[in-house]
Amino acid sequence: MYAKVIIEYATKELDKTFIYHVPENIEAKIKVGMKVSVPFGNKKIYGFVLEILTDVEEDFAIKDICDISDEELVLSPELLAIADYLCDVTLCTKITALQTLLPSSFKAKKHKQNYDYFETIVKLNPDIDIQKYKEENKRFTKQIEIIDKLVSEKEIKQSTINGSSLQTLIKKNIVLVEKRQKYRLNQKEVNYIEKTLTPDQNKVFEQVDLNKFNTYLLYGVTGSGKTEVYIKWIKEVLRMGKQALLLVPEILLTTQIIKRFYEEFASNVAILHSALSAGEKHDEYLKIMRGEVKIVIGTRSAVFAPLSNLGLIIIDEEQSNTYKQDNNPKYSAKDIATFRAKYNHIPLILGSATPTLEAMARALKNVYTLLRLDKRVSNAKLPTIEIVDMAEEIKRRNNILSSSLKQKIRERLEKHEQIILLLNRRGYATYVNCSSCGYTYKCPNCDITLTYHASSNNLICHYCGYLHQKDKYCPNCREDALNYYGLGTEKLEEYIKKEYPDARIARMDQDTTTLKGSHEKFIEDFQAEKYDILIGTQMVSKGLDFPKVTLVGVINADTSLNIPDFRSSENAFSLFYQVAGRSGRSNLPGEVIIQTFNPDHYVLTCLKKGYEDFYKIEMPMRRKLKYPPYYYLIGLKVIGKDYVKTLEEAKKVKQYLDANVDKETICLGPTTALILKYNNEYRFQIIIKYRFDSKIKTILKDIDNMYALKKDVYVDIDIDPSRI
Ligand code: ADP
Ligand code: ZN
Repeated sequence: MYAKVIIEYATKELDKTFIYHVPENIEAKIKVGMKVSVPFGNKKIYGFVLEILTDVEEDFAIKDICDISDEELVLSPELLAIADYLCDVTLCTKITALQTLLPSSFKAKKHKQNYDYFETIVKLNPDIDIQKYKEENKRFTKQIEIIDKLVSEKEIKQSTINGSSLQTLIKKNIVLVEKRQKYRLNQKEVNYIEKTLTPDQNKVFEQVDLNKFNTYLLYGVTGSGKTEVYIKWIKEVLRMGKQALLLVPEILLTTQIIKRFYEEFASNVAILHSALSAGEKHDEYLKIMRGEVKIVIGTRSAVFAPLSNLGLIIIDEEQSNTYKQDNNPKYSAKDIATFRAKYNHIPLILGSATPTLEAMARALKNVYTLLRLDKRVSNAKLPTIEIVDMAEEIKRRNNILSSSLKQKIRERLEKHEQIILLLNRRGYATYVNCSSCGYTYKCPNCDITLTYHASSNNLICHYCGYLHQKDKYCPNCREDALNYYGLGTEKLEEYIKKEYPDARIARMDQDTTTLKGSHEKFIEDFQAEKYDILIGTQMVSKGLDFPKVTLVGVINADTSLNIPDFRSSENAFSLFYQVAGRSGRSNLPGEVIIQTFNPDHYVLTCLKKGYEDFYKIEMPMRRKLKYPPYYYLIGLKVIGKDYVKTLEEAKKVKQYLDANVDKETICLGPTTALILKYNNEYRFQIIIKYRFDSKIKTILKDIDNMYALKKDVYVDIDIDPSRI
């Protein structure tokens, strides 16, 4: 017996299988999809079995497989098919695709650590007459104490009752010791009050056919109760004996949803996301692989969860760009979910209050089935929105807060209602400039301005993380003339504290939530009304449901409006709409104030009218500019350390494209990328726009192969990029 094995090295030259002989001692156990160790050169390395052969033409010099690394880990035919699909849509190597499916503890590479976690427990030997033993050993009070404890608690962690008495009981075979695997995350049952769906929710629930593949777009305003409908579908799927997968944009933004799922499904849920430790991920993966859970909730990579009997996939907040992976392989979890839904003949449900234009366009063309929830639960009203022109406010010296927002914050504080303030810029000042010589701090690696963080007194590059301690004097002219410009969340917090000294204020952004659990703590405390005002970046915009929040302020909306990207209006609309949706979710009416220097911007005027108005304005622009959903996009970046050489290669790539693509296909560039210099490398961009081009994949593969072996210049290809 022989096996075709793909090995752990991810280079293009080794992107093929090697044949190994299967030694007799593992013949009975070996399966396609297993991880094995094999000799390669003079090393022992790891790989996956992709095919089993009964015979080969010539077995001269064929080496033996060393061993199966983990008998439990067998990639299913579905996962292997997903790997093929990943290679096809992202142009990655086969081994990269396989490794992408797995958490780090299961990947094919040597890892010294064993992630399995064991606990030693003690329990009474059921074959012993305990009463009799107690009678005969009355004077050993310590032993009797332990026995009584074991009678009531059944089993106890050995480490909690050390001592000679326990050792005696063990020696006498009265108490048994057992070592067993323990999962790091465990969810206990909690009680809650069951909710009955409203008639609107029920109508939506009934429109989904759980027995066949179809994509649904659940378009429901903020607070319309989408989560409850998800739960009802999932319950139905479990009743059918199947499993469900729920993808969420960022686990930190969805603590409330997860809590809700734990209430409903308790230990039937596994979670998978990047904030878990490697050990926790390992355990969650084991639970899924062993079929011990029926529901998986997770972020992007959870789309690869090894559920063997999938009945439903739901993608919440489908507009979120976190579903697209930014680094290689640049896959979209939505595409993978579609692949799995088709493979299993099950529905895929996309949920959003502000769907991507792609999803809405497909729903309106009946490619997807549109499901709508137009009203908030219990008829809570959508909040009123006021747009404030900051150009006018500045004249009245209201630089940070407009008089209207100031006034309304004060009112809320008096009424003991809560406030959320969104400012999508972390740090203190967005740049530091010398008023004497004009010097501005810039990142030496990336050529963009450094952000000043007051808490650490550092200037930080938000792209590469470069850090520079702030100088007292200008490093250029030595004058004491450094000034801070541009508003960040730190400075806003400082200002709000001065303006409202009695208010209890929390700031939630990447800098205040680095510690594990800190994010949940902010949310719990805000929910428990330990804070009046929550200041934050986009972290405060999604998924939160606080009944006492009646005012939302967006400070400096312009930071989100002025991003040079074809999706920036869509993203800004979604962000503002989502954060506005945090206001007035219960019986108290909500208000939203948006501060901007562009009060007539259509994104803002549409916020008052709703998503559909935005859709109607944005779609014709996309058509005119030949952007998605009318055209498909591909972004190529030609990257290298030498400016001239890199630009030259970029021009060659462009020529190659021009000579080979269909004549309807548009190739633009090369131009300098939005961030030309990043981490000391120059980046030139080529954009391809096409509707139908049967040759495009082959052409991209050719380009990829041409540059795969070059050292000084490489090409980064992003098919269907989330931003350009
Ligand atoms: P969405 O995700 O659509 O923004 P949520 O699922 O967060 O909305 O629901 C908004 C609020 O309404 C939540 O507090 C939720 O508990 C409540 N809710 C939803 N459905 C019902 C229902 N059928 N009965 C009572 N309360 C509900
Ligand atoms: Zn940098």
